[in-house]
Order: sequence, then C-alpha cells, then structure tokens
Amino acid sequence: MKGVKFYDKDTEKDIVLHPDGVFIFIGLKPNVDIVKDLVACDEGGFIITKTNMMTSTPGLFAAGDCRSGSTKQAAAAAGEGAAVALMVRDYLKKK
Ligand SMILES: Cc1cc2nc3c(=O)[nH]c(=O)nc-3n(C[C@H](O)[C@H](O)[C@H](O)COP(=O)(O)OP(=O)(O)OC[C@H]3O[C@@H](n4cnc5c(N)ncnc54)[C@H](O)[C@@H]3O)c2cc1C
Repeated sequence: MKGVKFYDKDTEKDIVLHPDGVFIFIGLKPNVDIVKDLVACDEGGFIITKTNMMTSTPGLFAAGDCRSGSTKQAAAAAGEGAAVALMVRDYLKKK
C-alpha cells in the first residue's frame, strides 16, 4: 500500500495519507431474516427493543449484535443475553 486518497466533500479537495497500515471495516449487516416479519427494525436493519429488551412483538426479546443500539462487543452481547433471560422470567411470571 502506497497511500489512501480521500475526497473531502466540504473543501472539495483530495487528501492523501500515507499510514503504516490500515484496518478495513466493511460494516455490519444484521442476520435477522428469521424474525424480519415479526419485529420492528431501525434503518440499518437492527431489531428495536424497549428498555426491557422486548421487541415490538410481546414476549419476543432480542440481545446482542442484532439489537439496535447495542455496542457490538462480545462482553456486552453475553451480558445482554443474561439480562434478557431475567426479562423473560419476569415476563412469564406476570402471565
Ligand atoms: C472480526 C471481528 C472481530 C471482533 N472483535 C471483537 C473484540 O475484539 N472484542 C469484542 O468484544 N467483540 C469483538 N467482536 C464482536 C463480537 O464478536 C460480537 O459482539 C459478538 O459475537 C456478538 O454476539 P451475538 O451472540 O450477539 O452474535 P453472534 O456471535 O453473531 O451469534 C449469533 C449466532 O446466531 C446464529 N444464527 C443466525 N441466524 C440463525 C438462525 N436463523 N437460526 C439459528 N442460528 C442462527 C449465527 O450462526 C451465530 O452463531 C468482533 C467481531 C468480528 C466480526
């Protein structure tokens, strides 16, 4: 790699950087097809949840990377899974 060339839309000028290396970030596409007709999603396709992690379908919860607003970190996803288990228990107790 010799360099990275950007086009700055504000200044309408090219910027050329010569870093030692680059990390390529290709973005995230949530794999939520299985529930796509059941839950409300944000513009990126991530599942929208309430504060108790419930989706727009009562009794259906979401945790981890597929959830809108999640941090996309392994530790957070595991924690959200544990939190959802408690929320499910709470939901079922009230039934
Ligand atoms: C390259 C890379 C590097 C990363 N580095 C870090 C890091 O350094 N530190 C960090 O904290 N996080 C890191 N992460 C993020 C971390 O991997 C995720 O935040 C975490 O794995 C999310 O866990 P999850 O359970 O929400 O989703 P996932 O781990 O994606 O698990 C979802 C599971 O559901 C399965 N699945 C999907 N659809 C279906 C279906 N229809 N039926 C049955 N199963 C299905 C998938 O096969 C998958 O096993 C990295 C991620 C990537 C891609």
